[in-house]
Amino acid sequence: MHLPALLTWIGGVAEESAVALPSSEALINPNTGEILAESRASSLEQVDRATAAAHAAHADARWRGMPVDARAEILERFAEGLEAVADDMAALDALNSGVPISVTRLFAHSAGDTVRGAIAHGLALGDERSLDAGERDVRLRRVPWGPTALITPWNAPSAMAVKKLAYALAAGATAVLKPSPASPFSAQLVVRAAAEAGVPEGVVSLVLGGGEVGAALTTDARISAISMTGSTPTGRAIAAAAAPRFARLQLELGSNNPAIVLGDANIAHTAASLVSGAMKLSGQWCEAPRHVFVAREIHDELVAALEAELAALVIGPSTDEATTLGPVAFSARQEELHAQRDALVAAGARAVEVGSPPATGCFVTPTLILGERLTPASEVFGPLLLVEPFDSPVEAIELANAGARGLAGYVYTSDLEAGRALGCELIAGEVKLNGSSVLDMAPGSSQSFFGSSGIGGHGDRELLEFFTGVQVIGSDMAGLPL
Ligand code: NAD
Repeated sequence: MHLPALLTWIGGVAEESAVALPSSEALINPNTGEILAESRASSLEQVDRATAAAHAAHADARWRGMPVDARAEILERFAEGLEAVADDMAALDALNSGVPISVTRLFAHSAGDTVRGAIAHGLALGDERSLDAGERDVRLRRVPWGPTALITPWNAPSAMAVKKLAYALAAGATAVLKPSPASPFSAQLVVRAAAEAGVPEGVVSLVLGGGEVGAALTTDARISAISMTGSTPTGRAIAAAAAPRFARLQLELGSNNPAIVLGDANIAHTAASLVSGAMKLSGQWCEAPRHVFVAREIHDELVAALEAELAALVIGPSTDEATTLGPVAFSARQEELHAQRDALVAAGARAVEVGSPPATGCFVTPTLILGERLTPASEVFGPLLLVEPFDSPVEAIELANAGARGLAGYVYTSDLEAGRALGCELIAGEVKLNGSSVLDMAPGSSQSFFGSSGIGGHGDRELLEFFTGVQVIGSDMAGLPL
């Protein structure tokens, strides 16, 4: 696999990233533990120039001032460019994240349509419309707040970069993209596709690095809006950085998502769905069912069915077509997951490990953590599934709503009305009954991030609207009393 050079892009023009990182920060192939490539980061001077480029391009309106359909034409070429490199993005993401290639390929091949979705929403919403004001000309305008910082995690690198960038651009905003230092490769292809599509110079920049580079963006007064996906502690740091100037925030953070299994649930289906959800993206899916609360009378039967489902996983390198569970992204993730498992066991839980992953690389054995009142100290983001019994639906809701949650919830039952009623009590932006797909349940789906799972929400139209404020402008009414 050809690995792209880790370049910094200032306003769509590539240059060498100024900082050569030490070998201790080299990129590692999670399948083997071997070094993939030495890594590079942007210098703070480069971050400053990227921000200046976004600021200048916003100020002279070279992008937001372009008619929305002219922007749409350029974005359609961006979509086509992404489709042309989809296989490469998929391969690079599988190498960086440990997510099986069969899954990264699905994401990468939907990148073009993600951009087309942003175009369609942009055209539907428009930049400006006339309000009903009789003879007078009064208009409602959508105005990008200003330059945006787009900060992404490593679990779905190209999908996150494309989604944020496409909607920022469709909204007329300029952008500085910063991928996770653990997954910097596919962003190179994304930004190159934007430049080749004819996005004007200055509008899109790419900077590389970790928290220091991210903080340089989020504390910069020229950045008006920040869309970040990542962990809750990082979200807090970004919220604090944004607070003095009230930079607009969309924070998509972590959540130990509850799944309630009622006594009448179909056990085989429930076990298959829970394992499929919990092990998706090698266990690294933010909306995965993570903490199962099961009616006590079917607890043992469900656990046995879960073990059988885990045993059927094909554990192997993320680059193998047959793999259904790859390694986690890097060794610090592996160590943290083992520490979380050990802490729960030390507090009285029982760990049931199923399967035998390769001995080298960043593999974590799929594990059920069984016990009562399991209280993980932080988000569990890997192939662990917590399972505990409950004695009544009221208790299930109490347990499910405790702790750091808010992103997603699940209910399994054969009584859909009862499931819906219970699901409405969950503190979560999305509740799925009897399923755990990554995909939205219906077009027009939308969800807020409840509790500590973030600020803002998922939803295409909402994402477009996030990047803009509204301005009303027109001839005032004459002779008003006030
Ligand atoms: P992370 O919080 O470590 O990093 C996320 C991004 O923030 C990275 O680009 C990182 O370099 C950057 N960053 C770190 N410190 C920063 C700072 N002080 N200022 C600005 N930027 C900073 O998260 P991660 O480990 O890369 O990703 C995994 C996390 O992402 C999990 O918690 C997962 O739940 C979450 N996630 C959430 C969603 C969602 O939609 N809610 C989706 C995917 C992943």
